[in-house]
Amino acid sequence: MTSLRKIAIAGAGIGGLAAAALLARAGHDVTVYDQFDAPGPVGSGLILQETGLAILGELGMRERAETLGAPIQRLYGQAVDSGRTVLDVRYDAIRPSLRGISIQRPVLFDLVYQAAREAGVDIVPSTRIISAQAVGGYLTTGDGTTLGPFDLVVDALGVRSPLSSRPRSQLEYGALWATLTWQEGYGFERNTLAQRYRQARQMAGVMPSGRSEEEGVDTLTYFWSIRTDQYQAWKQAPLSDWKAEAVALWPETASLVDQLQSHAQLTYAEYDHRTHAPAVNQRLVHIGDSWHAASPQLGQGANMALLDAYALSRALCVHDDLDRQLRHYTSMRSGHVRMFQTMSWLFTPVYQSDSTMLAWLRDWLAAPISKIPPAPKVLAAMVSGGMGKPLNRLGLKAGDVSVTAE
Ligand SMILES: Cc1cc2nc3c(=O)[nH]c(=O)nc-3n(C[C@H](O)[C@H](O)[C@H](O)COP(=O)(O)OP(=O)(O)OC[C@H]3O[C@@H](n4cnc5c(N)ncnc54)[C@H](O)[C@@H]3O)c2cc1C
Repeated sequence: MTSLRKIAIAGAGIGGLAAAALLARAGHDVTVYDQFDAPGPVGSGLILQETGLAILGELGMRERAETLGAPIQRLYGQAVDSGRTVLDVRYDAIRPSLRGISIQRPVLFDLVYQAAREAGVDIVPSTRIISAQAVGGYLTTGDGTTLGPFDLVVDALGVRSPLSSRPRSQLEYGALWATLTWQEGYGFERNTLAQRYRQARQMAGVMPSGRSEEEGVDTLTYFWSIRTDQYQAWKQAPLSDWKAEAVALWPETASLVDQLQSHAQLTYAEYDHRTHAPAVNQRLVHIGDSWHAASPQLGQGANMALLDAYALSRALCVHDDLDRQLRHYTSMRSGHVRMFQTMSWLFTPVYQSDSTMLAWLRDWLAAPISKIPPAPKVLAAMVSGGMGKPLNRLGLKAGDVSVTAE
């Protein structure tokens, strides 16, 4: 029998709430603190891979995610100048039933929030965390209050966590995102995340993203890559200037872009890359983006946060010594984290950068190679998050997501 602990989780995002639900179910006394006044994130669609879905399954939320989300079976990208297909990843290269589930971020948030509430977690809003004391297990809030002591403090504050000492490296490109109503006749495939590129300087994407309730309307997420230092200029210029550029890149999106009447309909997201090390310091442990932030190019961030949450809850079920438990947590996750952080670092500039050379290599070298076996399976394993067998490392059944790619 392992000890039941008093645990503070800083951050009620995807990772924090999933960890809270799993730890509370195991009998720990869990309190979650967040700066929000009322729960509910803004946001785009994101793809839940088999990895994240398996953890939602452990939370009893997989079926609901699959009902509300849109199944994604293919990622397809074309370079507009050459007309070449430069990205064509099919999940069924691994097995016919494998797919991602694209879901609206607020819908995913509701699922983990509900799981945490049902597990009896105390969620304390309007609490901005500014620092932590790792040795004693304390948190300090923006108004100077000290919370604790806790046996364990979990940093789930996301990419801008003040508890993560490692400086963020802001990427030169971010993106504008909008959730729009899906309409038949747009000519997009319901099971495909589609992208168009002009070199690596311009990129637009369309991704079906499910519905917010069972009877609700189907949505899609539209995104447009933008240089961070051009965002202010974009905001000040007439929207029609940008619309003309967007339609010139991808004429089939004209009726989508037409739904956008103001800059405010597009949400700007900056991207950062950072791997905090070590993931554990005394009684302080990092999960999700506060440990490993990356651009969403590989679409793994929420899935990785869910894997971390499950690993932490599992680690606290073995041994009885906190140090050993936390070492077990990092040993289950660090190899997978390192691998995906490296791949994200390598792949992001291929799709979002000013490099003409990288875009050329992508179109004329990487694209043909990616069609030669076993590359289609390797790419599908990478996209579906199975590379590195992260579920097996957590003692979960991995299906055969990762089997063929290693
Ligand atoms: C535009 C975009 C698209 C993405 N697409 C995908 C995708 O397709 N697939 C995928 O898997 N991932 C995607 N991601 C990444 C994914 O959203 C994140 O990796 C994931 O949400 C990380 O979860 P987290 O729990 O670590 O942090 P978050 O979900 O960001 O939660 C952090 C929480 O901490 C709170 N907080 C922050 N600072 C403080 C503070 N000082 N005090 C108190 N509370 C605080 C916040 O209010 C928030 O509730 C995308 C991200 C972006 C921006």
